[in-house]
Amino acid sequence: MRPEAFLGVFQRPNLSPDREGGARPDREHFSVNVDLTEQVALVTGGAQGIGRATVEALVANGARVALVDLDVAKGEATARQVDAAGERCFFLRGDVTDAPGMESVVRQVVDRCGRLDVLVNNAGINTRSDRVAIHEYSMDDWHRLLNVDLNGVFYTSRAAIPEMLKTPGGRIVNISSIAGLVPLRLQSAYVAAKAGVANLTRSMALELGPLGLRVNAVAPGSTLTLGTEALFYGPDGAYTEKAASLLSHIPLGRPGRPEEIAQAVLFLAAPESSYINGVVLPVDGGWLAGYTRDW
Ligand code: NAD
Repeated sequence: MRPEAFLGVFQRPNLSPDREGGARPDREHFSVNVDLTEQVALVTGGAQGIGRATVEALVANGARVALVDLDVAKGEATARQVDAAGERCFFLRGDVTDAPGMESVVRQVVDRCGRLDVLVNNAGINTRSDRVAIHEYSMDDWHRLLNVDLNGVFYTSRAAIPEMLKTPGGRIVNISSIAGLVPLRLQSAYVAAKAGVANLTRSMALELGPLGLRVNAVAPGSTLTLGTEALFYGPDGAYTEKAASLLSHIPLGRPGRPEEIAQAVLFLAAPESSYINGVVLPVDGGWLAGYTRDW
């Protein structure tokens, strides 16, 4: 099928600023129901996007959630919007590239809540829109990206695991990407970091499974956060050729919503997925299923 055949399929979803920055989650967005009562979760990069949707899903299903982010203003605002009383969701400033800082964040969570059951390593940064060839890729960008997207997962997990092992049945969910499962051009650091996260997840599952701690990952496809919206629509919000080309590879004909990624994270973060360990689950509208085909 020619790519033009897809052009009419995609309707721009309603991603109002309100949805990202405002309204409290309702059950309609969270059809997966699990029981996280009495459970404590830590989500990195929870101020917006997929992290925020994950925080909302965990809270909606009974967990008490520490929302950790670099962005203090946005993190505090999100935590307040999710739970004004600060009982089910509270904000802690944390930079995942700062290993001692993340140890302190984990200590604060345990001091406050007494335990840690779930860790979601979500904080991540992406390649800028001006993608570059590997031989022109800047050293600074390489180190910056690897530091957040891969080292950050290691530093945070290293800090959290000793505490998580104190309560049987803990769960870690890492956020990789479809870019960590197949090669893509012109984004060397991102594909390397996310592939690292995917295989680190499997290795962690081998090591920690016998200790009663499950580790899985979610690999989102193109997800319509405010950050990626510009990539799809351009600065003026117009539907771009780039969007058409990207969407033509997705059997469902549209990008994902953060809530749809969060549903998968929620399931892997819950006791209900008790026999799943070491998987990297694509949540991509089928994009990977057709990866080796042209159209
Ligand atoms: P986003 O940019 O909307 O949000 C990322 C959050 O992480 C922000 O709140 C930011 O302040 C925080 N953050 C960044 N660096 C940090 C650091 N050093 N320490 C603590 N917090 C930090 O991102 P998103 O699109 O929601 O992506 C979330 C995760 O999903 C990332 O790991 C990303 O690579 C992955 N992912 C996203 C997509 C997509 O299309 N959006 C696709 C595949 C994978």
